[in-house]
Amino acid sequence: MKNPLQSGCRNTVVFAVLLLPAMCAAQKLAITMDDLPLNGMLPPGVTRAATTKNVVAILKKRHVPPVYGFINSRKLEGNPDAAQALKLWAAAEPVGNHTYAHMDLEQNSAEAFEREIEENEPALELLAATDNWHWLRYPFLHEGDTVEKRRAVRAYLKTRGYKIAQVSLDWEDYLWNTAYARCVAKNDLKSIEWLRSSYLSTASEFLDLGREQAKLIYGHDINHILLMHLGAFSSTILPEALDLLKKKGFKLVSLDEAESDPVYEGDPDVGLHDAGTFLDQWMQVKQIKYPEHAEKPYKEIEALCQ
Ligand SMILES: [Zn+2]
Repeated sequence: MKNPLQSGCRNTVVFAVLLLPAMCAAQKLAITMDDLPLNGMLPPGVTRAATTKNVVAILKKRHVPPVYGFINSRKLEGNPDAAQALKLWAAAEPVGNHTYAHMDLEQNSAEAFEREIEENEPALELLAATDNWHWLRYPFLHEGDTVEKRRAVRAYLKTRGYKIAQVSLDWEDYLWNTAYARCVAKNDLKSIEWLRSSYLSTASEFLDLGREQAKLIYGHDINHILLMHLGAFSSTILPEALDLLKKKGFKLVSLDEAESDPVYEGDPDVGLHDAGTFLDQWMQVKQIKYPEHAEKPYKEIEALCQ
């Protein structure tokens, strides 16, 4: 008998319903973390080093493949806690370039942006055990508001041996970090519980949306790259976020493996304003209508524990 898993999802309805709901959906996904050594505020008495240590311990315990942490080394200046946090991260996980001070390419020239990339390199050289740090994650995912800028930076990256760490899935997890720090400071347990449930429902919604976007753009699902941010809320919610990824049928892989999907060789090659993920950019360029989805709870999070 033909293996039902090899005959494609369309023909395995019976098996899928009865036995293997997650198998058809299995898709590779790499987790990445931005804004190291820290995004957002910390609750009183909590250090960056302790936060990082907790996150690294969860990743190890759950056998998550290497997670790239994208660093802004300006955050290290005069901050021994931040330096300690980054050392802890780099001893366990790879690091990549997120520019020296999180520069917005839309607000600056290509040349200024390139200087920011270089200014971040001494810290990367010091931290990384090998030269595998030649990955750039664009701050704000801004790849250039004009096509000239976009092309200039891309050409520069190529000559310097950098790969672009693209993002296909993003639920703006950073929104929860500072709100969580405020709620812990007020010991507002009810609000903390709301942060947990709203985080997980938003994550679920945007994981599904990203996969639908891929199908609308390419006609099939792709290897995904998830954007997260290392912050105060991360270590408390990460185990449940990992459970959710598993429940959705994702198989965790390294960034190199996820980005070996040929779709990432594509380039929308236009100037875009605040266009979002790689998939959002293509949706805009190809003028594809978004499927219906719930919005992120921006206002509720902003107002929480104030
Ligand atoms: Zn960032």
